[in-house]
Amino acid sequence: MSSLKELEKVKVGRRSFLKMAALSTALGATGLNAAPAVREATCDELKDPYPGSKKVKTICTTCSVGCGIIAEVYNGVWVRQEVAQDHPISHGSHCCKGIDSIDTVRTAKRVKHPLKKVNGKWQRISWDQAVNEISEKMLELRKKHGPDAAMFLGSAKMGTEQAYYFRKFAAMWGTNNIDHQARI
Ligand code: SF4
Repeated sequence: MSSLKELEKVKVGRRSFLKMAALSTALGATGLNAAPAVREATCDELKDPYPGSKKVKTICTTCSVGCGIIAEVYNGVWVRQEVAQDHPISHGSHCCKGIDSIDTVRTAKRVKHPLKKVNGKWQRISWDQAVNEISEKMLELRKKHGPDAAMFLGSAKMGTEQAYYFRKFAAMWGTNNIDHQARI
């Protein structure tokens, strides 16, 4: 993606810099000299590493409090976040989860498609296969143990309409075992 390449050119983040420094030290100790080249950022890059970026007001979706976040978006990529000082609920504050909300998007561990563990190894499967296998398993469990064998746990990441359908789904399933994730 050209936007990511541009980002790499523009900015070496603190963590990346520390990783490179550690790698450089380790290679130095072995007598090898293959550490990646690092250059100093120019004054312009330091002043404005993401020229033309947009600041978008949004909310942290980790829990139901919904603290305010300013997401900085550069070429369609969420690159930095700030606390929303004027947010009516959080009043310019975050908890330790919200302060790094951006990592739910950019972490290398983010799951982007369904995975199934086969013989101890994760394999990518299609959405159709995932939905079919999960629904078949659920129906089998309901037949064997009844509808109250299942519990439905909502999410702060759901919108109002999604929460409405989720509640309807539990009712159609035949149980009142439904709650919100924030209550655990
Ligand atoms: S910052 Fe913390 S308290 Fe605020 S919405 Fe996110 S998880 Fe909840």
